[in-house]
Amino acid sequence: MRVLNSEQRMIQETARQFAAERVLPMAKALDPQKGVMPRALIDEMAELGFFGIMVPAEYGGLGLGAFEYCLVAEELSRAWMSVGSVIARGNGMLGLFDALPEERKLDALTRQVRGEYLGAVALSEPNAGSDVANLSCRAVRVGDEWEITGSKYWCTFADEADFLVVFARTDPNVDPKARHRGISVFIVDKPRGALPQGVKGSPIPKIGYFGWTTWELAFEGYRVPGDSLLGEEGRGFYHITSGLETARAHTAARSIGLARGALEDSLGYAQERAQFGTPIGHFQATRFKLADMATQIQAARSLMYDVCERIDQGGRCDLESSMVKLFASEMSEQVTSEALQIFGGAGYTTDCAVERYWRDARLTKIFEGTSEIQKRIISDTLMGKVTA
Ligand SMILES: Cc1cc2nc3c(=O)[nH]c(=O)nc-3n(C[C@H](O)[C@H](O)[C@H](O)COP(=O)(O)OP(=O)(O)OC[C@H]3O[C@@H](n4cnc5c(N)ncnc54)[C@H](O)[C@@H]3O)c2cc1C
Repeated sequence: MRVLNSEQRMIQETARQFAAERVLPMAKALDPQKGVMPRALIDEMAELGFFGIMVPAEYGGLGLGAFEYCLVAEELSRAWMSVGSVIARGNGMLGLFDALPEERKLDALTRQVRGEYLGAVALSEPNAGSDVANLSCRAVRVGDEWEITGSKYWCTFADEADFLVVFARTDPNVDPKARHRGISVFIVDKPRGALPQGVKGSPIPKIGYFGWTTWELAFEGYRVPGDSLLGEEGRGFYHITSGLETARAHTAARSIGLARGALEDSLGYAQERAQFGTPIGHFQATRFKLADMATQIQAARSLMYDVCERIDQGGRCDLESSMVKLFASEMSEQVTSEALQIFGGAGYTTDCAVERYWRDARLTKIFEGTSEIQKRIISDTLMGKVTA
């Protein structure tokens, strides 16, 4: 097993303690009521530096890498995946701000590190999920402004965020062979605690990932200032792909955190629950399940560490990041499901966290690119794309 350096151990331990003492009790209380994580929790995370782990020190961040970011994400997700996810609204936005003029970048990042400028991503649409290049939301230049019209789906945190990152088509002439061209990205500032005035929205009735609300949004001629356009017009797709490796490693970390929560809870339950006059942890059927679960988690974690190291060394690892996203999310669903089995009927109640781990693990196979899309990327790399 990899030995962490002292700085890594320290940040891991800080996140572990925070997760156990602050996040887990909140998850237990709020998830069953589909509650929203309190702003005070976000403020505490900002104080610990969790929104700026990867942000360079000159912008107020910790100046660390994807490795430390994923260490923290695993710890927080072990308690509640939504909290392990919200740190991406800082660290995960880093690449976007590179396109800003230096003064605005400095302002955005320093506020982000303090947890005062967190974003939500409005990329997916009713007809553009895995096939994001199919997006049809339009942005048209009107004088000094842009006018956005179209539907967005699955925008998590749209209400509580300080800004939305909206992907819209600025060139209506879609080249069927290069549909990704002509897409631009806009930063839409908004008041915290509400949708942008004039944007209609309704919450999506999801089955997990509580702690924040996921929205369907309707933009109808919504005007934003000219400087909301981020980077070059028509090159927004570049922003979708640029941070993908870190985003996939982060999703792997979340998957591993959930699986670890399920394993740790199962180890405790296997010792305390007795049937046929003996703890269920004495049955080989249970022990072997636990052995398999622990092994799967460790395998995923090793792959994640490897991918993070490559990212931090500046090398490309599209293939490996797809592999770790695929492997860790599939592992997480299996491990959390096995944990639920160990809990028997108790696992099928909201009294035990294991059902939450299972519901949230199920999502890791879907968002940030489904398992099938990861397999497509991996097989295309191995075999070349099929051109029909
Ligand atoms: C709770 C939740 C929160 C989310 N938050 C956000 C957010 O904040 N912002 C945002 O922009 N998006 C968000 N998403 C959207 C998420 O990224 C998409 O759900 C995901 O990309 C899959 O798209 P889809 O749901 O349209 O599924 P589809 O693309 O319709 O896929 C349906 C099925 O078809 C399969 N499939 C599709 N294409 C292929 C192919 N080429 N080969 C093989 N199989 C294929 C898929 O793997 C899947 O099994 C969120 C989603 C959920 C569920």
